Amino acid sequence: MKSMSLRKKLILWYSLFFLGLIITNLVIVFLASDTVISENAREEIQETSEDVAETLDIVNGIVYYDFEEGERFIYFEDGIAFVLYLNGQFYEGQYPANLPDDFPIQAYLTQTYDTPTSTWFIYDLPLQDGYTLRAFYNYQGGVSVYDDFLRVLAIVAPILLGISTLGGLVIIQRTLKPVQAMAKTAKTIQSTENFQLRLDEPKTHDEIDTLAKTLNQMLEKVEASLEREREFSANVSHELRTPLAVIQAQTEYLESKLNDSAYQKDFETIHHQLTHMQSLIDQMLELARMNATTQVPLESVDIIPLLTSIREDFMPMAQSKSIQLTGPQTSNQVQIHTHVTFFIRSLSNLLENALKFTPENGTVTLDVTRHPKRVDITVTDTGIGIAADEQDKIFEALYQVDAARSDAQSGIGLGLALTKQMIKQCGGSIALKSTPNVGTTFTVSFPV
Ligand code: ADP
Repeated sequence: MKSMSLRKKLILWYSLFFLGLIITNLVIVFLASDTVISENAREEIQETSEDVAETLDIVNGIVYYDFEEGERFIYFEDGIAFVLYLNGQFYEGQYPANLPDDFPIQAYLTQTYDTPTSTWFIYDLPLQDGYTLRAFYNYQGGVSVYDDFLRVLAIVAPILLGISTLGGLVIIQRTLKPVQAMAKTAKTIQSTENFQLRLDEPKTHDEIDTLAKTLNQMLEKVEASLEREREFSANVSHELRTPLAVIQAQTEYLESKLNDSAYQKDFETIHHQLTHMQSLIDQMLELARMNATTQVPLESVDIIPLLTSIREDFMPMAQSKSIQLTGPQTSNQVQIHTHVTFFIRSLSNLLENALKFTPENGTVTLDVTRHPKRVDITVTDTGIGIAADEQDKIFEALYQVDAARSDAQSGIGLGLALTKQMIKQCGGSIALKSTPNVGTTFTVSFPV
């Protein structure tokens, strides 16, 4: 039940409820009609007994049906059988077969006796001279009514159930359609991080319409606040650039004027930190300016030569750590639509990280795999890996897994945020698989 869609749950509940309703109705109708019919049977046995009693003549202790004609008592009238008792003892008539003969005489009372297929009503009417007229009525109404209702149930219930389920399905489908559309758009917003998108408002002036409107207002606020944040960091970065450039120039000038080698070391440190800050600010500015919806011109390129050239650029770094850097394996053309500069920078960032976070004597492999609808470019290393709970966070700006290990590598934690953004601008996506102390594979996919 938990994993069922809302639509299925509603239909299941609705159908079960309707089935229950049909059965309850039929049972109520059956019970009510059975009561009425058995009530009628009681009345009938009493009335017929009284009619029969009126026609009887008891002369000198003998019971005649018609004294004048000398006709004796009859035993059957309107489906009711009669016997006579005298002073509490069976006297005359034919007692119904299969019926116990030990019912006590109970004047003016109707006794019942149930057999599996019917009910017997037994009624005692006292006559004169110690006689009692006993009537038997075999009532099968309950059972036949029950059969009828079962038949009705078997035919009517599936038809009603079918109609109600189909009707329900149409209504539920119609009601849930805007919700499905909303969920689809929300998923797109979530995966593309394009907060300019809006949910379709069904304009039905109901709860779903209100929900869509409210969510759209929320999206507007999110978009505005993201925009503000981006503008803010763009402004701050921009403002910091000029003074930083001045400090840098002045430091270089002072450094050249200094002859004391003791100060030389301090200046080198200042210089190094300034360069680091400058690169941080440049990247922040770039990230702030880059917008998910900004279009960059894409061109069709063969990525194999690009990847080979990137690999060659990183050869010295790999050799300095005795890391085996290989790939891509194929020399056949693999054409994709991309932005060449963003492509080179993204793959360079991934390769640089792979080399940075792989210990000496490890391997880093570049590879390209064609799929029917996409091309995957993988960067695999045998490095320190990334714990599962960190894997999403490393794409956030300024996030570094472990300050200690990253500090030693002098990163700033913007590389992957920029990489992800650039790949997205090129219409691609990025994912990773990693096992701590075994290695990491980053996969960049482009549609073809
Ligand atoms: P940095 O400038 O620190 O490299 P990134 O955004 O490029 O910033 O990476 C963020 C963090 O993700 C890094 O600090 C590092 O901890 C982790 N990381 C990235 N690539 C790898 C990798 N190939 N192996 C292990 N950890 C990685």
